[in-house]
Amino acid sequence: MRYFPLFLDLAGKPVLLVGGGDVAARKFALLKDAGAKITVVAPQLGAELAAELAAPAAGAFTHLARTFAADDVDGAWLVVAATNDRAVNAAAAAAANARRIPCNVVDDRELSSFIMPAIIDRSPVQIAVSTGGTSPVLARLVRERLETLLDTSLGSLATFADRWRDAVKRKFADIGARRRFLSWMLTGPVAASLRAGRDAQAEELTQRALETEDGLPRGHVVLVGAGPGSAGLMTLAGLRALQEADVIVHDRLVSAEVLELARRDAARFDVGKFVGGGGATQDEINALLVEHAQRGEYVVRLKGGDPFVFGRGGEEIDHLRQHGVSFEVIPGITAAIAAGAYAGIPLTDRRYSQSVRFLTGNSDEQLAQYSYADLAAGRETLAFYMSVGRLAGLRARLLESGVPAAMPVAFVENASRTEQRVIVSSVDGMQRDAAAKQVKAPTLMIIGNVAGVAAELQWFGRAAVAGGAG
Ligand code: SAH
Repeated sequence: MRYFPLFLDLAGKPVLLVGGGDVAARKFALLKDAGAKITVVAPQLGAELAAELAAPAAGAFTHLARTFAADDVDGAWLVVAATNDRAVNAAAAAAANARRIPCNVVDDRELSSFIMPAIIDRSPVQIAVSTGGTSPVLARLVRERLETLLDTSLGSLATFADRWRDAVKRKFADIGARRRFLSWMLTGPVAASLRAGRDAQAEELTQRALETEDGLPRGHVVLVGAGPGSAGLMTLAGLRALQEADVIVHDRLVSAEVLELARRDAARFDVGKFVGGGGATQDEINALLVEHAQRGEYVVRLKGGDPFVFGRGGEEIDHLRQHGVSFEVIPGITAAIAAGAYAGIPLTDRRYSQSVRFLTGNSDEQLAQYSYADLAAGRETLAFYMSVGRLAGLRARLLESGVPAAMPVAFVENASRTEQRVIVSSVDGMQRDAAAKQVKAPTLMIIGNVAGVAAELQWFGRAAVAGGAG
């Protein structure tokens, strides 16, 4: 170990910063965050530090408007040299070393007696990453990875645990029992409540668990929107849930690419349902979720797209609520949003359409209930889910409602996936073209003037093909 890591309390302590430019300003911001009493020595200040000095809340910031002198380091806990003149930096380092004051020269390992890490700040939790000065870029890459893994609620979780520390200590004399309790508190429903901003609920759960003693309920269900298939379209919150899961209950629509991201030893249930086809019933799925949560497991219910858009997410959480199981909902990119983006079809565009509606055409009766007036007037975009099996009825209904026969229709099959296919047709030709091109599920259908621009604006996957062209 070339460098010894530590966390220094700088609150109210004098620190010397040599230099007044942009680099110095970045170090200034960090030192200021730590509450240090900063003296900047520099003949001139750059714009940023000048603004800091002029600010009414400049606080303990002192500026010495001259070149550095060795005595400036006297009394400082730390020295940071950030000028663009190596001789000045070296003089600062020499003065600090002579007095055994730790000194960092920015981007100069040889002159530094300490180096600064890349920081992931979830105060009071902090993670400092160092590559021993070998590659600051690599340290930054590691930092970015960790940033994605750690929820922003980590800080409030630490503060919460700190507040309960004494009570937990009093309750559990045995260190093993105390650890088990704390680990429950930091990973189960208490942590989930804090993530949801429900501090009172977190307090109550903790209080109750401390009173009941036996059987800590960790059981929890997270409904996660997996997006349309491409793993990059999952949210960070969804990814974190997948990596914590004991059990994953997923639909057939969820791609292998997304499932790859899950914790390796999580148990998996494929409850895939196709319209009219096999798979588990909704009641069976509901029962499965409750059963595993009540066993104390962390259950992720992973759904294609968004859980609340034609996803029965509402029914599932209603069932969980009735059984007293705690839950969270993490949204996903729904098929219409993905299909629009990946087919080059802006769902609204002030030139062609001012609104968008998400619908499904399960039956002809349902299709008859919708109003198509805004579509007919060229003001609206319709995004149809699960409807490629009902094109004859839909076509008749649209024409009857006065929608122009030439109104563009785009079929976006497997949106965002490598096998994506876009077929552009019209209201008149929709049924014929879908049959000729053998359009199959999952397909999102976009109807409206915006669908006509797909051919020009498409940037992803195979080029859009016009129906009827063979
Ligand atoms: N909750 C999902 C929708 C589930 S209903 C969501 O928010 O996207 C299933 C329908 O969604 C399919 O019949 C199809 O119309 C659409 N769909 C889902 N994924 C799709 C994809 N990758 N490409 C095109 N359509 C998709």
